[in-house]
Amino acid sequence: LKNFPYEHILVLGLAKSGTAAAAVLLEQGKRVRINDQKATEFDSNVAKLKEMGAELILGSHPIRVLDGIDIVVKNPGISYDNPIVAEAEKRGIAVITEIEIAGQLANRHIIGITGSNGKTTTTTLTTEMLKQSEKRVKVAGNIGIVATEVAKDLEQDEHLVLELSSFQLVGVDQFKPKIAVLLNIFEAHLDYHKTWENYKQAKYNIFKNQMDDDYLVYNAEDESLVEAAKQARAQKVPFSVKNRQIDGAWMDETAIYFKQEKIMERHDIVLLGEHNYENILASVAAAKLSGATNEGIRKVLAMFTGVKHRLQFVGNYHGRLFYNDSKATNCLATQKALSAFEQPIILLAGGLDRGNGFDELLPYLDHVKAMVLFGETAPKLKQLGIKANISTIRDTENVQTAVQAAYEISEQNDVILLSPACASWDQYRTFEERGDMFIQAVHTLV
Ligand code: ADP
Repeated sequence: LKNFPYEHILVLGLAKSGTAAAAVLLEQGKRVRINDQKATEFDSNVAKLKEMGAELILGSHPIRVLDGIDIVVKNPGISYDNPIVAEAEKRGIAVITEIEIAGQLANRHIIGITGSNGKTTTTTLTTEMLKQSEKRVKVAGNIGIVATEVAKDLEQDEHLVLELSSFQLVGVDQFKPKIAVLLNIFEAHLDYHKTWENYKQAKYNIFKNQMDDDYLVYNAEDESLVEAAKQARAQKVPFSVKNRQIDGAWMDETAIYFKQEKIMERHDIVLLGEHNYENILASVAAAKLSGATNEGIRKVLAMFTGVKHRLQFVGNYHGRLFYNDSKATNCLATQKALSAFEQPIILLAGGLDRGNGFDELLPYLDHVKAMVLFGETAPKLKQLGIKANISTIRDTENVQTAVQAAYEISEQNDVILLSPACASWDQYRTFEERGDMFIQAVHTLV
């Protein structure tokens, strides 16, 4: 940690990322104090950190945890309204996240990926493209693998692909990826960031320390990002699903391209939907800049059926195409899924009732031939179906029975799509569980 001139560090909120950061800091000879509300001395990770020399203040957040502290490493889940965080800011003590530590450990090799949507898909694609090009690569960050854990053992010739959330990026200081990817930016998480300006600023932290020999890959169709990129020092590499980009990634009716070079035919790509083409072009740009081969990229795009539960192609059974989009927990996501197909769709939807309506789906239902509904919102969705003149609307118990019902009313070439437009918590623990039930039901059918 060459550029980390702090000696007394408070790790606020342990979880997995705090544990990893504390361990690295202790190994580097720093004085580390840990403050966590839920953790106890009996937790094995806590006991280990104590053995390594950490000071523990557990069970509450007394203000004295800040005494003598030079910098706070905050868990991204902890709000800036937390009294300790607010007090630290008042006293002028810097507050960072574990990403800053990871960044310092792996400075040279990072491909950082952020955006309001599409992060996991783009991170996964970029990683796979490099793997298939015989490059050494690791993946971490918001995707569910602690960045510091991976960064500390990164080898000289390895690339590190990091999925980064705005919660993580708000707390970076010198973090500087070799390649920064900005996918899109929509108003989101305003409960956490308070204002749209703050949220954008957090995302733009991804390129704020980049220099002339770094790269910023960004969506040329997103006005906010085009504006933001003007402030960046890095070399700009735009991508666009609509317009040719001489300096970046783009596509036309038949193929995808990087700069002047044709990468592959579109009909060999398995992923569907304009949003996924954005993710693909961003990945192609990041991968090409990191030395990926066209052959490696082609292999991935010809194979990749989508990240699990995100418009994931489950299979073609008896001529029906089954897609699992369980991650679609709101209307916007379901709109995207519906727009991805031209064939007739049997839509499986429903779930937790948050009190909202579903009229936003109406313009997207013209090729929906039937709806199979479940969960708390089934009656509301039924009303929507009637408004859209959908002739076949079935009520069922749950996702499993919905698959059965959908199959019974389907014909050859139909798409059977789970894209619930609702959270799963009325019937399932998580959207993952709901999606797994769908996949299982499809396999049972076969
Ligand atoms: P994240 O990791 O940012 O949550 P994912 O790759 O997991 O994103 O995709 C989650 C959902 O976001 C997808 O199911 C899709 O509905 C939507 N989505 C994905 N990529 C994009 C994109 N480029 N633009 C807009 N929406 C997208």
